[in-house]
Amino acid sequence: MALGEREWRALAAMDGTRDLEGVARASGIARDHVAAFVAELSRLGLLAGTPDADPPASPARDLPVRALPGYRFRCTGAGGCCGLVDTVLFTPLEAARARAAAPELLDAGDDEARAFLPARGLDRRLLAVALRDGACVYLDGDRRCRVYAARPHGCRTFPRRHVDVGHEIRVAPRIACACELEPGDALLTSATRGAELPAALWVERLPAEVRLGARVVCATDALAFTDALELDGDVLARVRAHADALGAPPHDPAAARRAIEHALAEHAFRGPADLVRRALALARAAADAEPQDVLHADEALAARAHAFAGGLLLGGDVGAGLRALEARLALARRIPPQARVGFAAHPIAVLGALAQATGLFA
Ligand code: SF4
Repeated sequence: MALGEREWRALAAMDGTRDLEGVARASGIARDHVAAFVAELSRLGLLAGTPDADPPASPARDLPVRALPGYRFRCTGAGGCCGLVDTVLFTPLEAARARAAAPELLDAGDDEARAFLPARGLDRRLLAVALRDGACVYLDGDRRCRVYAARPHGCRTFPRRHVDVGHEIRVAPRIACACELEPGDALLTSATRGAELPAALWVERLPAEVRLGARVVCATDALAFTDALELDGDVLARVRAHADALGAPPHDPAAARRAIEHALAEHAFRGPADLVRRALALARAAADAEPQDVLHADEALAARAHAFAGGLLLGGDVGAGLRALEARLALARRIPPQARVGFAAHPIAVLGALAQATGLFA
């Protein structure tokens, strides 16, 4: 697309406060020409970010809250989760608290823009913190949070996901950090009703309709189906059999490998210490490896947590959800034992983190 001088003048006048008339007056360009230019930008998908386009707040409905039965966890403070996400979000107030707690870091105490950028466009109502080697800049060299008491809401609720499944709000771990698979005693939540959950909490919702084999059913029916799936024993074989029974196209290891290669190329600009890049490299190596020791308990917990949270439905097709889980399980099994240390101590959590950070096999 080539922009002439008039278009540049019109663009320069679009400061977010002016309507078409205002842009025309401020730029001195005829209103009809401005209108045609805006229509062309819109047609090309280059206009976004109006306040109405923001995702609506999703406060919890006052439904019963139910956590994944029997699950407890323990945060080891290893900081893996702080380096295995693509974006860490802060509200302006949370950013102000973090800047006050560590003002010298990037000199952000003086200037917010040194550590925070708008998460989207020019809208500063939600901010993304700067990353260093792919990790939140507040993660120090000992992998400790420098602003722990002032960390944002998202960090306080990690690794929990809250999903409104219609008749209740389910709380489940994301299984995206090794420590979630260590024995622990921390409850996922003490809330019993949605009204007790924080107002700022993001609550996922299931799609209204979901493909289940050849049929399209309501989410309630699809959830009843996935709740009844047997996911114990050899979990990979179980998941594959369930996907086969729904007639889902078979898992294609070559396509999975290409998807990993693509994601790796997209992350190539990041430094070698970047955990997402290292996790992708592990996944690529696993794609060419033979199956190794199987951590059955890890697999069973990851599959159970995913299904409990409605994860098999969230993409709108249970068969595809099962195949994505199959891909994660198959790759996790192939991560070699010598690589299963630190953040990769529990391979299925590495694949869970990649699903969260890159959308791979989500
Ligand atoms: S604010 Fe602290 S807990 Fe949150 S991602 Fe950054 S280092 Fe981790």
